[in-house]
Amino acid sequence: MRALRLPGWKSEPELVEVAEPTPGPGQVVVRIGGAGACHSDLHLMHDFEAGAVPWNPPFTLGHENAGWVHALGAGVTGLEVGQPVAVYGPWGCGTCARCRVGVDPYCENLAGAPVPGGGGGLGLDGGMAEYELVPDARHVVPLPDGLDPVQAAPLTDAGLTPYHAIRRSWHKLPPGSTAVVIGVGGLGHVGVQILKATTAARVIAVDTRADALKLAEGYGADLTLRSGERTAEEIRQATPGGRGADVVLDFVGGDATLALGAAAARTVGDLTIVGIGGGTLPVSFFSVPYEVSIQTTYWGSRPELIEVLDLGARGLVRPKITTFGLDAAVDAYRQMRDGSLEGRAVIVP
Ligand SMILES: [Zn+2]
Ligand SMILES: [Zn+2]
Repeated sequence: MRALRLPGWKSEPELVEVAEPTPGPGQVVVRIGGAGACHSDLHLMHDFEAGAVPWNPPFTLGHENAGWVHALGAGVTGLEVGQPVAVYGPWGCGTCARCRVGVDPYCENLAGAPVPGGGGGLGLDGGMAEYELVPDARHVVPLPDGLDPVQAAPLTDAGLTPYHAIRRSWHKLPPGSTAVVIGVGGLGHVGVQILKATTAARVIAVDTRADALKLAEGYGADLTLRSGERTAEEIRQATPGGRGADVVLDFVGGDATLALGAAAARTVGDLTIVGIGGGTLPVSFFSVPYEVSIQTTYWGSRPELIEVLDLGARGLVRPKITTFGLDAAVDAYRQMRDGSLEGRAVIVP
């Protein structure tokens, strides 16, 4: 079969011929219907070096995948060949306290995981191929009616990651509150939809690109702001009494966006860093509003994936998708890199 593989750090991916996987006991092979191209893959190709993460190339790219069950290993029950499924991407040990409640991204027994702190497309072979080997059937989540694998694939990361980041702040987003989405890219445009579908907050979207803001507006953002020097002030002015945003979700994570988030946040608000832009934010007694909580988040839990797939099946959250064939995957990454890609690229092998 054909697979788009990352041959080493600081290198371009290559489309090569590899052997079709076969499932061992407890494993599942999924025929890929869609594999999302994630901005983090660009960091894998261009920025990471040995030692940055606890795994290394070569491996097949693609960590947001959906398709159909193709083959079941010995002992797997509850799944049928041909059934449409999503692949839960972070693969932990399955037995530690985090994994037991479906929070594999924060697995505390990395030595017991199939790859420490990774998954398919992140150290092990992912979904940018005709088939993907999933090392444990618990990572295979049946799709609800009304959702096909191309639509489902981006929900497993571009949907799940913002869903988790928003869900953990739900208690700070009652009617009358304000949520700010910084960066309306692959994750941010889904974040706007999730905020509209699951909270009554007023949603403000911020980006440098007019097209991205138009996209956010189309998904129901109440206000869109082209980021500039006055953006923090503009956000404050748009909140009752100028008090600031209850929750800021930074899908960029650069120095400038973190500073903007801290300047725009309300006291007791949340500033959640989702983007891996590598920026830093000085935190000290007077540098951020009182009791603002600042946190990073990484991906989401398996129960949250089931919830986000439900939102997708009901049409409440629909990532904007551009599809590419496997041989055009490199093109998709190029468009993502130069900022000309709208929404999410999904590779259809
Ligand atoms: Zn990703
Ligand atoms: Zn674990």
